[in-house]
This record gives sequence, C-alpha cells and structure tokens, in this order.
Amino acid sequence: MRKFFSKITIKTVAVFTAATLLCVFQAVGVDLIIVERIIAGIVLIALARYFKSAAIAVFIAFIIPLFYLPVGLEYGSPAPGYIAAVFETDPSETAEFLSIVPVRDFFYILVLIILLAFALFFNRGGITTVTSTPLRNRRGKIVALVLIIILLFFGSIPYRFYRLVYKSYAAYADLISKAETTPINDFEIIKRSDALEKDVRVVVIGESVRKDYLSVYGYPHKTTPFLDGANGIFIDTLIAAGPSTMTSLSRTLTAKENERIDWSRTVVTLGAQTGYETYWLSNSGFAGKTSTAVSLIASQSDRMIFLNARGGVEAGAKDDFEFLAKFDEILKNETLKNDRKTPKLIFIHMAGSHSPACNRLHGFANRFDLPYGKEHNCYLASIEKLDSFIKALVDEMSAQKLSWSLIYFSDHGQGHYENNKEIGLRHGGSAKQGYEVPLFLLDSAATEHVVIKRRISGLRLIDLFASWLGVNTDKTDPRYTFSDFPEDLNITTQNGAYDDLADDPALY
Ligand SMILES: [Zn+2]
Repeated sequence: MRKFFSKITIKTVAVFTAATLLCVFQAVGVDLIIVERIIAGIVLIALARYFKSAAIAVFIAFIIPLFYLPVGLEYGSPAPGYIAAVFETDPSETAEFLSIVPVRDFFYILVLIILLAFALFFNRGGITTVTSTPLRNRRGKIVALVLIIILLFFGSIPYRFYRLVYKSYAAYADLISKAETTPINDFEIIKRSDALEKDVRVVVIGESVRKDYLSVYGYPHKTTPFLDGANGIFIDTLIAAGPSTMTSLSRTLTAKENERIDWSRTVVTLGAQTGYETYWLSNSGFAGKTSTAVSLIASQSDRMIFLNARGGVEAGAKDDFEFLAKFDEILKNETLKNDRKTPKLIFIHMAGSHSPACNRLHGFANRFDLPYGKEHNCYLASIEKLDSFIKALVDEMSAQKLSWSLIYFSDHGQGHYENNKEIGLRHGGSAKQGYEVPLFLLDSAATEHVVIKRRISGLRLIDLFASWLGVNTDKTDPRYTFSDFPEDLNITTQNGAYDDLADDPALY
C-alpha cells in the first residue's frame, strides 16, 4: 500500500480535502459536524483523483456550492425564501446585494477554489502512474467509478446542497403556481357591525422595519417623534410570518385553509366584499417574476398604482414620499354608489427601510450620528422618515375632514451585519429581531395612546383585519381584535421556535 501512496500525496490529499470540505460545509450552511459527510467527501475527492473526467466532474460539483458561500455564511443553508429572493431580484438589486457582501467573502471563495483544485489535481500524475495500484485493473476501476457516482449523488456535500436548492425551488414554484391559478372566493360574513364604518381605511405595509429601533417601542434615540405621542393602539410584539417579504406577506394577507394559504380569499377581497373601494399602492415592483405572490393579491384590488412600474423590487424603488400626491388624489376623488360615497380601503406597500437604507432616504435629512457607521445611521433615519410619512398621511386625512383608521405593520425585521468595522442591517431570520416588527392602529376617533404588551403571530393579521373592518367571517377568528386578543405563546418561525432564536439587540 505504501508503495503507491507516496507520503507527500497522502498528506496533500488529506490536508487539502479536509480543509476544503470544512470550508464548503460552512459555506453552504450544511450542518457542520456530520462526520460521515466529511468522510464521504474525502473518499470522493481521493477516488476522483484517479480519473481525469471524474476529477473535473467533482470539481464542478463542489465549485457551485462555493459561490453560495457569502449567503451561506450569513443565512445558513438554502431555503425557499432565498430562492424567491433570487427569482424576484432584478440585476440592479443583485448589484446592491453584492455591494454589501464583504470583499473578504470573495477572497474566501478564491482560496477555496485553489484548495479544491489542489486536492483534486495536485500530483495526480504521480499516483496514477504507480503500477501496483488496485485501481489499475479493470475491476478496481469499475468499483471506484461506481463509488464516485454513489458518493456524488447520495450523501455527500454537493448532493446535499443541490437537493436543498431543488427542494427550495420546488416549494417556491408550488407557491407561485397556486397564486396564479386561484379564482376569487367569498368569505362568508357571519356578523357585521356598521358602527365601525369609516370614510377611509389605510393599511401601510412596512419594509424591513424591526420594532426595537422605534422610539415608540422604547428605542432611546428619538426615531419616531410623531408616533411617540400619537393616539392609537401599539401592539408589542408582532412576530412576522416570515423572514423575507414574500414568505411573510403571502402568509399575512391571506386566509388559511387547514393551515395552507388560501389565495382566493385575501385582505383585498375581504375589503371589497365589505363594501370598500380598494386601492393598492406599491413601491415594491410588479409584473413578471417580481414578487408575484404579493402582486397577485394587489391585482385583486379595484385600482393599482405602482411607483416602481418597471418591475424591479426594492432597487428600482422610488421615494416613498411620492405616495403622498397619489394618496391625496385618491382621497379627493369621490366615487358614488347608490348616491352614497363609497368608503375607501387603501393599501400602501412601502420600500421602507430595505437595505441599503441610505438608498431609501432620497434627500430626507439624516440627523443621526451614532458610532456604528453610515448604514446604521441611515437605517435610523429611514425609521424617522417612516414616522413623518405616517404623519403626512394622517395630516392629509384630517385636513380633508374624513373619518379614518390606519394600521401599520412591517413585513419582517432585520439582523445586524458587520463590514469593515461598520454595522449595517439586512434580512436575518436567525435572530428574534429578524421577526419582531411594529404593529399599530391609529384612528380619527382614538383619544389615548395605548400599548398592549402581548405577543401575536403574523398569521393572525387576517383575523385582526376582519375585526378592524367590523366583520366576523367563516375564515377568521373573532377573538382577535386590536384591543384584545389571546396571546400566541408557541410561535414557530422558518428558523425554528421563536423562543429558541438568538438575540440580536438594537445598538444605541
Ligand atoms: Zn421585505
């Protein structure tokens, strides 16, 4: 045996494969300590060294997961949400994403590619020319090739990576096809309270806003001066139904049938059924593959206005303040039905605080100067911008002497990341704060500022929404109202039990 494994080759293969495998494991977020997978990988690489074509095949199989490294290091193994992100992302957003990936990560990829090439190809000729190797005879060769194929397709790291990607893609495709083929169905309205009728109801859907950065939720720097003193109900805490826009909103804005999303019954269809003229204003992109699931819900409304019509998601986003002129216009436009003014239900899907937060400011003054870097200060400013945006909506409705009610929630929170000693925020489902978002109700009839310290799941928003509209339906739970609801104690997130998630507290 010693004869055909020269010392240097054994050492090279062992050291380089072990190093590469450990790094690849970490890169793709596949559970790090699975000994059999590491062994399977080492055997695979060692065997592949004997056959040129196998070595090339194994090299390609390993190299693709390596490019997942920057994502894997931050977010873990592939999940449907990330596949959605890939499909819903336009090139300029990809450029934005890559700009926040540390240069260090690209360096890792390069080093790993070199290590992998070394493990597979270094001194390959040296061993293959040794005549006594059992792999020289035909039987040995066949056994080795069969082993390579088995290892490549079952149980090894590349196999596990590709399987995860495929499963995530299948889940995403399934979601989209359901969204696209579903008709509109009615809720059965069991009870209705006309006392709750308003001239206008507004649902503001925030983007990437975690609640602990709002001073109204206790952040020590004044990020929400208007909300701090506004009359209404502030719920502490809403746990978002997903760590990314689509996973969260598709589960938040729809009724559920046996815990599955019922695309035929949504907040928009319920609003229309209750007698409201429905509007969907979005700064989040429409058309094609872009946020199809949310676009489907939007398309159920009477009128859609997309600020960002070219179809990109947040990268093509305009200034959220551009909503204000459209909002005024909608309020002033009276629609009569049977000689009565039709009440309006207006959804506004903001670009909010989506990373990079500095791109959301569009000239809004940034008066924050905390020591964590530009991105972090921009994030704080984007929260203050949200505060003034809500104030502007409220001021306009009051100026037009309308009776109104407004709810706000964010689709998901954010996690911190560090880049060149500066802190920024981006999607992060691994910590509680990736899910903890603000939820509040402001109302023209409200006379006090109420805080409800009780946990509620994002899946319950449809229930709150129905009671807010003043209806009790066959698909919603009437126990959930803004002033009172049962606490949701066992909330499961896409990253496991909410209670088990890590803590990533706000910096101040
Ligand atoms: Zn989002």
